[in-house]
Amino acid sequence: MSTAKKGDLSATEKELLQVIAAGNVQEASRLLGSKDVRVNCLDEYGMTPLMHAAYKGKAEMCKLLLQHGADVNCNEHEHGYTALMFAGLSGKTDITRMMLDAGAETDVVNSVGRTAAQMAAFVGQHDCVTVINNFFSRARLDYYTKPQGLEKEPKLPPKLAGPLHKIIMSTNLNPVKLVMLVKENPLLMDTDALEKCRRVMELICEKCVKQQDLNEVLAMKMHYIGCVLHKCSCFIKDREDKLDGLIKCLLKGRENDGFPVFQEKFIRECIRKFPYCDATLLQQLVRTISPVEIGNDPTALSVLTQAITGQVGFMDAEFCTTCGEKGAEKRCSICKSVIYCNQECQKLHWFSHKKVCKKLQEQRLKHEAESAKRLEKQAKAEENQAVEEVTNAMEELSADQNEGASPESSDNQSEGAIPDPTPINVN
Ligand SMILES: [Zn+2]
Ligand SMILES: [Zn+2]
Repeated sequence: MSTAKKGDLSATEKELLQVIAAGNVQEASRLLGSKDVRVNCLDEYGMTPLMHAAYKGKAEMCKLLLQHGADVNCNEHEHGYTALMFAGLSGKTDITRMMLDAGAETDVVNSVGRTAAQMAAFVGQHDCVTVINNFFSRARLDYYTKPQGLEKEPKLPPKLAGPLHKIIMSTNLNPVKLVMLVKENPLLMDTDALEKCRRVMELICEKCVKQQDLNEVLAMKMHYIGCVLHKCSCFIKDREDKLDGLIKCLLKGRENDGFPVFQEKFIRECIRKFPYCDATLLQQLVRTISPVEIGNDPTALSVLTQAITGQVGFMDAEFCTTCGEKGAEKRCSICKSVIYCNQECQKLHWFSHKKVCKKLQEQRLKHEAESAKRLEKQAKAEENQAVEEVTNAMEELSADQNEGASPESSDNQSEGAIPDPTPINVN
């Protein structure tokens, strides 16, 4: 099939674009089977069917088009937009990931020099930014599972590629979560395996720094994961309690406020040990973190997370106190000030949290009582004012009889507190 020319569409291709806009996958599938439809045809703006489907946020349609050979890196759009850029703009993380899995280039820029991640950030689609910035194809990792040059053995045993790739793709950089990912795979619970993985992380880190399109973000992430894997291997080698011991160290809070000092220091040390001193990202991180006293905000984890994933703050979602996973909703039933994914995460944290739980509860109750008082006062003041206004109005318009407007029913929706079969007493 000849290369498509902009706006040169057959009648059936025009129909296809309409069907895509309407989201009719079955009909699109039928049309793609006809002779006068090219899957990479271009409309007058240089948009392919895949770009249309990505922009409209239609995942099934994108999948169908890719199966029919849609070119994910077609770059004929009048402003240089790619399918990945449209996916990012749509805000759909599944489609963004699909484009990346199909081999979308992340560093292509549009006509004003913006990458897909930058465009997604510009329109506030931060989840898509995270997906793009953290993407590392399985193929890039699989390179290390084949012997190179004179090597007799590959650097990475093929069976480790799967579990390692899962860790690399994690957008949650909480070290507890990463250790949990190591722990859940028996293949990784071995010092030799961990050191091999760590070595590969270092090699990828080096490649990211030395390659032409330098990627400091990915380099930092690989280095950081390498550090966590190394820590795991040390604990497995030296300590009887193995990774449970490491998780405990990472979660242990200091006496007065429960702040996890070991974790903070560990992450700071990982960053400091980044081997390429003149990297801009490293200098930025060190500048941000070093003036912060341990225990204050921002934590090293939040600074690192923001630098690597683009996630700003931890405000718009609930994150597990133990492992940092998004969407945690089990609240400690006593203090209600910490939140977990599940009982397992709560149990892991209890040895440390139990020391501050009561104190947090008292603080919360005091705070609630104060704000209740404040609200009451405010309500009274408003009531007095309203009465006064009404009296004045009545005096002025003595004849006017208003229908008594019913007082607004105050539906005090209590926020969805999850009654939890908590206080767990684990020692
Ligand atoms: Zn958790
Ligand atoms: Zn508590």
